[in-house]
Amino acid sequence: MSTQHRIGGHVSTQGGFLAALDAAGRIGANTIQIFGANPVQWRAQVPDEDTAMRFKDEARSRGIEPIFLHAPYLINLASEKGNLAAMSKTLLAKHLEIGNALGAFGVIFHIGSRGDRSEKNAEQMVVESLDAITRDVSDGRLIIENSAGAGNLVGDTLEEIGSILLGLNNSRIGFCLDTAHAFAAGILTDFSVGGLDAFAEKIDRHIGLSKLWAIHLNDSKVPAGSNKDRHENIGEGFIGGEALGRFVTHPAFSQVPLLLEVPGFDDAGPDKKNIDIVKSFFVRNE
Ligand SMILES: [Zn+2]
Repeated sequence: MSTQHRIGGHVSTQGGFLAALDAAGRIGANTIQIFGANPVQWRAQVPDEDTAMRFKDEARSRGIEPIFLHAPYLINLASEKGNLAAMSKTLLAKHLEIGNALGAFGVIFHIGSRGDRSEKNAEQMVVESLDAITRDVSDGRLIIENSAGAGNLVGDTLEEIGSILLGLNNSRIGFCLDTAHAFAAGILTDFSVGGLDAFAEKIDRHIGLSKLWAIHLNDSKVPAGSNKDRHENIGEGFIGGEALGRFVTHPAFSQVPLLLEVPGFDDAGPDKKNIDIVKSFFVRNE
């Protein structure tokens, strides 16, 4: 495995941001995703300079980079309720500031559900909100994650995400592909080499492969097209290890940071065993 490959996962910040770096070390991760604040709270605070500095220094000296933040689940930029959409915008902006303080590459987020809004209307609203956030916070990247597609969730197709990115035309906004969500949404079900070629080509056409800044590498507990968001350990789900091995070693995806959000073999989240399985995919191919 080349040391260039960035393989890691979502790790807990229980015990502080530095504890997340320790957790990364334990599971053999050289890239991580963390929550910048409690993911089910509307409150969030930018860490003080001392804490942020120590985190950045330690991450650098331990070779853990890039760092990604995952935004709170509360965020819904397409909400029909005006106050919820406005609160979501404010909260996402705050997490972007937290990410900047911690030296993160960017903040990965779900767009949310449009309820009874039309797709066009929801898209327009999302574009306006993201535009405003990048004007208010002068630095840092926002990374749209594809959804599994249940309940009018926005962003379950490459076309829809591409249309939002095109509407923005903003170099600070990119794309995170979640394999389990794509599988459940029915947009990535053929993991043959030809199928992956076609999928990569489709990303390039609608979004641009240069906008693919992170991959949430997850197996799926539910079958293709089920629209449910249920992650499984690598090789234990409906996608399977062989398919995921072909996926991560495909030239379009092999250089993109891989972040696992799997339940873990001991139900304690992404673990060394899952990460070692992913590393073995690269060893077999080199
Ligand atoms: Zn994800």
